Amino acid sequence: MDAEIIAIGSELLTPYRQDTNSLYLTEQLNQLGVEVTFKDVVGDKLEHLKQVVQTALGRADIIMLMGGLGPTEDDLTREAVSAALEAPLVRDPQQVEALQKRFAQRGLPMSDNNLKQADVIAGATVLPNRNGSAPGQWIAGTYDGREKTLLLLPGPPHELQPLFEEQCLERLRMRLPPQFIATRQLKVAMMPESQCDARIAPIYAKYPLVQTTILAHGGEIQIHLRSRAASAQAAQQRVDQLAEEIEEELDDAIFSRQGESLEQIVGYYLQMRSATLAVAESCTGGLIGERLTSVSGSSRYFAGGALVYSNEMKTKLAEVPKKLIQEHGAVSAEVALAMAEGIRKRCGATWGLAVTGIAGPTGGTPEKPVGLVYHAVSNGEASDVVERRFPGDRERVRRWASQQALDLLRRKLM
Ligand code: ATP
Ligand code: MG
Repeated sequence: MDAEIIAIGSELLTPYRQDTNSLYLTEQLNQLGVEVTFKDVVGDKLEHLKQVVQTALGRADIIMLMGGLGPTEDDLTREAVSAALEAPLVRDPQQVEALQKRFAQRGLPMSDNNLKQADVIAGATVLPNRNGSAPGQWIAGTYDGREKTLLLLPGPPHELQPLFEEQCLERLRMRLPPQFIATRQLKVAMMPESQCDARIAPIYAKYPLVQTTILAHGGEIQIHLRSRAASAQAAQQRVDQLAEEIEEELDDAIFSRQGESLEQIVGYYLQMRSATLAVAESCTGGLIGERLTSVSGSSRYFAGGALVYSNEMKTKLAEVPKKLIQEHGAVSAEVALAMAEGIRKRCGATWGLAVTGIAGPTGGTPEKPVGLVYHAVSNGEASDVVERRFPGDRERVRRWASQQALDLLRRKLM
């Protein structure tokens, strides 16, 4: 069974408000084994709303509408669903009473337009809303010969969520065939998306029952696997099997198998080896330290470091010889290595990690263009340096540089 979610409200079509309810509902539905196949955002216009509901009835089994249940002129969800289903709206005396009681309890006068919140689509079950005045509605019936479930839910998240969990979850579960969704996520660092896909496409193509999605961002590729089956075990087995084959192909390019971040994994390795880390950052301006310390418990392996932006600071705080900077320039493999070793010694850490580069958009030269970054790592005995030329704007270059530096360290620690 598939679902369609319809978010209603003209404010959701402006840059100022976002539909977040559908994210919540999608998660809930997925846990019931239901896939969301369409999401719509519609303004407060009767004709548009009716059209969307009619379209949804033609392509989804479960249709969830939220918002537009208020008392004002532009709250039209009830009217639109009634028109699309060709089922009349009936004023429910019990709801009128409930509304009157609600207003009386608050010592507020009830205006006439509030009465339309007592209008119920013929045949619907009313879902009382203990956090607001607009009750939800549950409609189950056949439409064009197919079983359909429609839910009308209030828009405010603090009303929608308890109402859904208390009154809809079990009702939905009872209508559903047994179905389960299993998911897995693998993460890969510093590999072009096209290369990753070229390598794994022949593998996932053999698994038509697993949906494979590749998302790339900031030097990280996430491979999302999901599958639906009649038992949790069958669904899990399918995604695990595919994950195993992908792991075999990509090998140590995969840094995370359970959703961990790169900084978490690096911390995990450092702790396992009882090692500590110090960083010297130039063009990343503290981003690596920020990422490392965002992990709770990082004080066990992260000593600290220095933000050595000027040449003077590279010498003063990371013990880079002045002469080395004069000879090779601040953005060079030699200086990056000296920074890594210098900061390691200065901080008394097991490992030193350093980055120096040109984040741009200004400051590039033909020999040293914008995006050129050196990443170095040292433990006193072994060291390594990686030169990269990153495309993109300042933010992108800095993010990629932090990613490359952390991945360089990860590979050394493995
Ligand atoms: P009310 O009785 O409060 O009018 P309603 O069902 O008519 O209930 P709306 O008027 O459509 O709800 O929305 C009320 C508020 O709820 C919006 O201003 C917005 O802040 C929030 N809201 C509505 N829809 C969503 C959504 N899809 N995601 C997140 N917030 C939403
Ligand atoms: Mg509204």
